[in-house]
Amino acid sequence: MDPSSFRRHGYALVEWIAEYLAGSERYPVLPRVAPGDVRRALPATAPERGEPFEAIFADFERVLVPALTHWNHPGFFGYFAITASAPGVLAEFLAAALNQQAMLWRTSPAATELEDVALGWLRGLLGLPDSFEGVIYDTASIASLHALAAARHAALPQTRETGLAGCPPLRVYCSEHAHSSVDKAVILLGLGHRALRHVPADDEFRMRADALGDALAEDRAAGITPLAVVATIGTTSTTSVDPVRAVADLCRREGVWLHVDAAYAGVTAMLPGYRPRFDGWEQADSIVVNPHKWLFVPFDLSAFYCRRMDVVRQAFSLVPEYLQTAEASRGARNLMDTGIQLGRRFRALKLWMVLRHVGAEGIRAALAEHIRLAQLFAGWVDADPDFERLAPVPFSVVCFRARPHGFRGTAAELDALNAQLLDAVNATGEVFLSHTRLNDRFVLRLAVGHLRTTEVHVARAWALLKRHIAQLATSIR
Ligand code: PLP
Repeated sequence: MDPSSFRRHGYALVEWIAEYLAGSERYPVLPRVAPGDVRRALPATAPERGEPFEAIFADFERVLVPALTHWNHPGFFGYFAITASAPGVLAEFLAAALNQQAMLWRTSPAATELEDVALGWLRGLLGLPDSFEGVIYDTASIASLHALAAARHAALPQTRETGLAGCPPLRVYCSEHAHSSVDKAVILLGLGHRALRHVPADDEFRMRADALGDALAEDRAAGITPLAVVATIGTTSTTSVDPVRAVADLCRREGVWLHVDAAYAGVTAMLPGYRPRFDGWEQADSIVVNPHKWLFVPFDLSAFYCRRMDVVRQAFSLVPEYLQTAEASRGARNLMDTGIQLGRRFRALKLWMVLRHVGAEGIRAALAEHIRLAQLFAGWVDADPDFERLAPVPFSVVCFRARPHGFRGTAAELDALNAQLLDAVNATGEVFLSHTRLNDRFVLRLAVGHLRTTEVHVARAWALLKRHIAQLATSIR
């Protein structure tokens, strides 16, 4: 593509993106496609001869756009709602053009040092001490994998050379509401899934510190070595907050690595009123916070902070001759040493641009507004005789279900009714909600987190839920 064609297509794309970012409501949030539709609409083999960009873009609009789930839609309330904000999108455009590969300081001094600067800014905003060194990974799943690998190395450094053979049985602990990435990390690290002990939670879905204490004592007595505890601030289903201070005290006493998973809710440490929920997280060995969840940074970017990054380096660093550089001995940080990846994208650029463009004040205002909207929705649920709330709302996620006044069906029928309600509301294309299971009940979740979501969108979700439950309840009767 010659420079003048690039300019022409680039300008056209910027127009398209600008319209998309301002008006994604014109698309249904969930696409109306079936599995296989996209594959069937595209040729099975790559073209022998290059094609004009116009033709490629026409297929993008014809085949791919109708099959997109619009995470950048203000009616997206599923899982955790996110935003690719405009400054982040521009940063991704630049990062692709620059094609930085920041494995070594030498291969991109700018990307290497900007990562330090942007993570330092974020650390300051979160109120974490400077003793936490930061590194960017793609996702929280990978961050937690690195945390547990470091915990394994801290307890049993010989595993780097000899593997797990001859090691005592090992154990990792997390609440029954922790994210499944902890399970995957334990499996991948060769500990075996049974090495993960799910600690029971209280009736507000928080890990019970007393139960953790009992589990640690019981395992020690049985000759099992506790390796790490994962505490969560903002669990995936209900956004509950584990008692991090009490868990940290236990970990210190037991000499066990504490990893705090604050992938979703971590950013609210920026809100002065929310700081108490983070009490004790500064005692953790490692923490993960996902700017790609609730900090308006386009997917993917996960911030990993560690007070013992030297252990991460000992676990992962391996420098062959062809990657030796003189700067390493002069204090330069080579990012390839802090993880399994060699090559690394210039992700810091989008974090830096979003933090600068939105500003701490703008971020705090957006987070506070999302929390307000969730509380407002929770109030509507609480006041309605046909609905009930099924968990506290510490942040911006509401767990609830319909329970029509006078409903006399079984628990399974109530689950089925809520599943039907979810399908009906999502089929409108105006909003998208997801679900979970709590205390063996099918639960609807409304997660507020997109930058363009306003009270109008939340009210629309509520109106659709009300309208569809009225129709479904009538058909049951
Ligand atoms: N931790 C928590 C608490 C989560 O809710 C999630 C995803 O929702 C993850 C980790 C995994 O995030 P990622 O997609 O960045 O791996």
